[in-house]
This record gives sequence, structure tokens and C-alpha cells, in this order.
Amino acid sequence: MNVVELRATLDVEAIGREMYTLVAELYPICRSITGNGLRQSLDILKRYIPLQTYETPTGTPVFDWTIPKEWNIRDAYIKNLRGERIVDFRASNLHVVNYSAPVKKWVSLGELKEHLFTLPDHPDWIPYRTSYYKETWGFCLSHNQFLSLTEDEYEVCIDSSLEDGSLTYGEYYLPGQQDDEILFSCHSCHPSLCNDNLSGISLAVFLARVLGSVRRRYSYRFLFIPGTIGSITWLCRNESQLSKIKHGLVLANVGDVGRSTYKKSRRGDAEIDRAVLHVLQHSEMDYEVMEFSPYGYDERQFCSPGFNLPVGNFMRTPHGCFPEYHTSADNLDFVVPFSLADSFVKCLSILSVLENNLTYLNQNPKGEPQLGKRGLYRTIGGPEGKQDELAMLWVLNLSDGNHSLLDIATRSGIYFDKIKKAADILYKHTLLEEQSVPTASWWKGTQ
Ligand SMILES: [Zn+2]
Repeated sequence: MNVVELRATLDVEAIGREMYTLVAELYPICRSITGNGLRQSLDILKRYIPLQTYETPTGTPVFDWTIPKEWNIRDAYIKNLRGERIVDFRASNLHVVNYSAPVKKWVSLGELKEHLFTLPDHPDWIPYRTSYYKETWGFCLSHNQFLSLTEDEYEVCIDSSLEDGSLTYGEYYLPGQQDDEILFSCHSCHPSLCNDNLSGISLAVFLARVLGSVRRRYSYRFLFIPGTIGSITWLCRNESQLSKIKHGLVLANVGDVGRSTYKKSRRGDAEIDRAVLHVLQHSEMDYEVMEFSPYGYDERQFCSPGFNLPVGNFMRTPHGCFPEYHTSADNLDFVVPFSLADSFVKCLSILSVLENNLTYLNQNPKGEPQLGKRGLYRTIGGPEGKQDELAMLWVLNLSDGNHSLLDIATRSGIYFDKIKKAADILYKHTLLEEQSVPTASWWKGTQ
């Protein structure tokens, strides 16, 4: 079975529900860029796909960065004079500034306020704050709760540790016929946030799982990494292998009800950029395409000038463009199975373009071949048949060795699947010859 056949057999609604279930299971865990929350999350993913985890020790230089101390947290609270937990890590891990240094002391309201973060515009929401590279401590709480604090003494406790350890990331590699790779990367370092972080993880896991069961031209690599430092670490450890990456997508924010958005790679006209654009144009749904900018997720690292990899960012509503972003409102109500499933199907459609984007040579380039005598002309009535015929004419005309099937689909305005079907028929009738592509040595040995 190939990707196209696979897409037709899937129960997409059921997959959306399963993707959501994984998001819900990962939701309570306090993840960060290092530590046991991240490891525990990757262990859950191992039930779906046999990913490998890699540890890079604290202090290891990775390009211009250094692997930080490992952060772990067991408990945290603010107690009032009556000994009541008025802010409790056990209720929401967003209450603690991620990477807070340990602290346990009594403070005045004035001192406490210097360590509190709220969202006055959304007084019921808890903000998400981090302090990875500056050692400090802090709490996040709703603005309404903040306003209710009185001139008291408060006991603050953050039972965390910042110690030498390592940075963890997960990687799953699926070999294909070719060594050339398609890369999927998602950040896995946020605590209880659903769209930003967990939706991308879930999408990557389910893509990896279904791709494991199909015939693949490309090899696939899935990365579950902490944002920024994780991608920089992975790039540093794998620098000699990067030329194998032919296409890539960073997955993030793929579960909200907004339209699909694609941020192009730095190259702007890479095959992945054109494949995503083509799929979105033919999706019969609203979508947005953005040019590359050096701000966002890990495409910033993959597309840094020293690598300039063909990696775009596939999402729905971009980071920072929804008020729930980096707040407690990016919760299990904010992502929906339908959007997760829709993002999944669109990714499969993109992959089916990439997997099948071959270049052919017309074997009868002098004038049009006589399709009628081969039973290929006007054999099917109605507008459907006419479009099939048109697709064949486009494929024949542009298969001069310089146009891939995606080029032909883009130029003709006909959806890729139809162009591919036309090419298959013409190939069967020996009117096309495939341009040779390199094949992995191990695969040749097994054929
Ligand atoms: Zn984020």
C-alpha cells in the first residue's frame, strides 16, 4: 500500500479522536526543555512508535549554545498565614515560572509581587512564563486572584532542582527506498498547553505510525525536541547527515479551529513549499500562506543561513495570533479532534505529492500520440472524463524531462492526484518513461 491508497482507507474521524486522546494524556505533565517531564512524555509516545531517546550532558557546547542544567520539579505553592495553599502547582503546572530555581521562605506581599506574573487583559487566565537562561523564581496566577491578595506575609516554596544532568530528545527514523529524507519536527518542551506543543506532537506521532505501514520512496525522520536548544543540539549532533533532508515541516498549533496556515521555508520556492501550497489551494477550505521570517518555531534553526534546509512550518493559527497562546486557556477545550484530523489529512496529502512527484519523459514527443487507438480518448463520458483527458494532455506536453508532476499540476491547475493518475495510465501504455532516481543501496539488495 502507498500513501494515496492509505489515505483512502483511513477512518479520519477516529484518528482525530485518538489524536485528541493522546493530547489529553500528555496534558497534565510538567514538561520543560530538560528533565523528567519531557522523558515521561517521550515514554508515552513509545507506546505508539518505537522512538529512540538521546541524552546530551549539561555543559556540552552545541554551536553557539551550551546544554543547560537539568530542571526537575516536585511541588510548589504559595501559602497564606493560615497555611492554605492559595497558589498550588498541583492544580496547574503553569503556576510556576518554568525553570524556577528552588526557593522556600516567608516574604512580604511587596517582595512576592516582584515574582508574580498575571494577564490583566484576561483576568481569569494563568500566563505561561519561562526563565531558562537566567536563574530566578516566580509564580503565575490569574489577575483576579492577584487582586485578592492582602498585605500579609506569604510562604513561598518551589521544590525544584537545577543540576548537572542532560537534555533529552526523541527521534524516530523510518527507512524508505531512498536515503533522501523527509523531516518532521515538533517542540515538546511546554507544560500544560495543548495547541502550542501537544497538537504538533500528536500529529507527528500519528503520521509516523501510519507511514510505518506503507511503501515509502522517502525515508522519514521525526524529531520530538525541546524548542530552540533541542533543534540546535540535534543539528549539531547530525551535521554530517543534513544533506539527506530533502523536505521538512515543523508542526505546531495544528489543533485549533482556525484555518490552515503555512509559513514557507527560507528558500521560499522549495518543493515542500510548492507541495503544501498546491494541497492547500485544492483543499476547498480557507487557508493562509506566509513568507519566511526568522521568528517562530524551530524552522528558525533549520533555516538558519548555515543550513538553509527546505523546512517550512505547518500550522493552523500562528503563535501569538490567538489570545489563548501561552496561557491556561490553551487547554483541552481549545483543540478539537476535527482540526487535528484535518491537519493530519492535509499532511498525508502533502506527503502523497512528495512521494509521487516524479519526472517523466514523453516517449512520443513529435505531435500528440494518437490516444484513440490506445483506448484513452473519450472513453469516459461527462465532464469528469474530459478532465482526465485534459490531465493526460498536460502530462504528455510537459513531460520533457524538465517538469515534475507537481510542476504540471501547478501549471495546469489540475489537482496532483489527477495528474498522477493520468501519468500512471500513460506509463502503462508506454507513452512515458520515468527519469531514473537514486535508490538506497540496502533497498536494492532486498529487491
Ligand atoms: Zn510556545
